[in-house]
Amino acid sequence: MPDAEIIAVGSEMLTPQKIDTNSLFLTGQLNALGVEVVRKTVVGDDRARLADTLRHAMAHAQVIVLSGGLGPTEDDVTRDAAALALGRELLFRQELYDAIEARFRRMNRRMAEVNRRQAFLLEGAEPLPNDRGTAPGQWIERDGFVVMLLPGPPHELKSMFARECLPRLERRLPHQAIRSIELRVAGMGESDLDQLIAPVYTKYQNPATTILAAASDIQIHLRARCRTAEEAEALVEEVARPIEELLGDRVYSRDGATLEAVAGRMLLARGETLCVAESITGGMVAQRITSVPGSSKYFLGGMLVYTDAMKERLLGVERALLVEHTAVSEPVAKAMAVGARARTGAAWAVSLTGYAGPDGGTEQNPAGTFYIGIAGPGILEARRLQYAADRARVRALATQAALDWLRRTLMRA
Ligand code: ATP
Ligand code: MG
Repeated sequence: MPDAEIIAVGSEMLTPQKIDTNSLFLTGQLNALGVEVVRKTVVGDDRARLADTLRHAMAHAQVIVLSGGLGPTEDDVTRDAAALALGRELLFRQELYDAIEARFRRMNRRMAEVNRRQAFLLEGAEPLPNDRGTAPGQWIERDGFVVMLLPGPPHELKSMFARECLPRLERRLPHQAIRSIELRVAGMGESDLDQLIAPVYTKYQNPATTILAAASDIQIHLRARCRTAEEAEALVEEVARPIEELLGDRVYSRDGATLEAVAGRMLLARGETLCVAESITGGMVAQRITSVPGSSKYFLGGMLVYTDAMKERLLGVERALLVEHTAVSEPVAKAMAVGARARTGAAWAVSLTGYAGPDGGTEQNPAGTFYIGIAGPGILEARRLQYAADRARVRALATQAALDWLRRTLMRA
């Protein structure tokens, strides 16, 4: 099966203002055909540099898609660079010229002389009609590889790719399918996880495995390429299953769903509601829960209770409890959850209290220590976690731990 490279041409994409989005579209389309994109490059409007990039791509991939630089002006260098790299002439084609001129006439505009440049076709190339703009694309095939020159404006490129390139690719490619699974894992560090599952996935070249890690949230991407969808499905499952077995209930989704979305689905399925009482995370848990569309169906709201006084006033945590145990303690975490639940009427309440650091903390509970409380139907629990990490990471870890513990509690409740 051929591999693809995408080359986005345009100096504007080497500035802080403009990003190459065409390659995202193209990657999706190529993947759907079973073609993997193995490299993407952004090159400025420079003839020699672009020719270099194209030569390199032709030495390493069989499908090469260039986008942009087909306009009529001096800085549109894609045609010239392709001619250089392929060692082919650019030939004037009267029928392309007539088509461009006709398009201008239809729009009641006079064609400028510079547009003549767009009527040059590489020797042996097929022109690709552009129904959204003036620049025709070009399709070049040689010794089993394909080079496509497509216009830069996204709506022109998309239309041309769908109408002209897809059917041509489908005819030429051996049929192949890609199936992927994205396992998401909470409550585990990246190196521990890798140590555990590497013996499984390193046995396979196909599916390809990619592991991405953030604060106690790990994504395992598995992508299988096969002749048929059934084979790809079977192969990706063959690797996913033993990984899931090793990780057990630390895997919270296999379709890329976020932890907050998974917890939300569980609440929705049970017809139960949730509230939060946050100190150390200052609203981060609520932020993640409410980032899920439709969360208003199960999330009632919450309290942001940073000081002891607010814990008393908004949640009814007793002063004696705060004095005896301090705010960062198991009894207070529990009392916060109980208070939030009572005051909102939610079925479930999650609370968080801790020392984010870098200062503060006690000998028993140094900076990086936090307690999570959960109150629900017949359930009142708290747990203590401690990390040696900076403030931002401690807060992210606490948010993640609270959401994950909610998920696990709902699983067994
Ligand atoms: P034109 O005939 O309009 O000049 P062109 O083929 O020369 O077309 P460019 O000049 O490179 O294309 O780009 C035209 C427009 O399309 C610009 O607004 C540019 O920012 C946008 N564009 C070009 N390439 C990309 C890309 N890879 N992703 C997103 N937008 C792009
Ligand atoms: Mg241009």
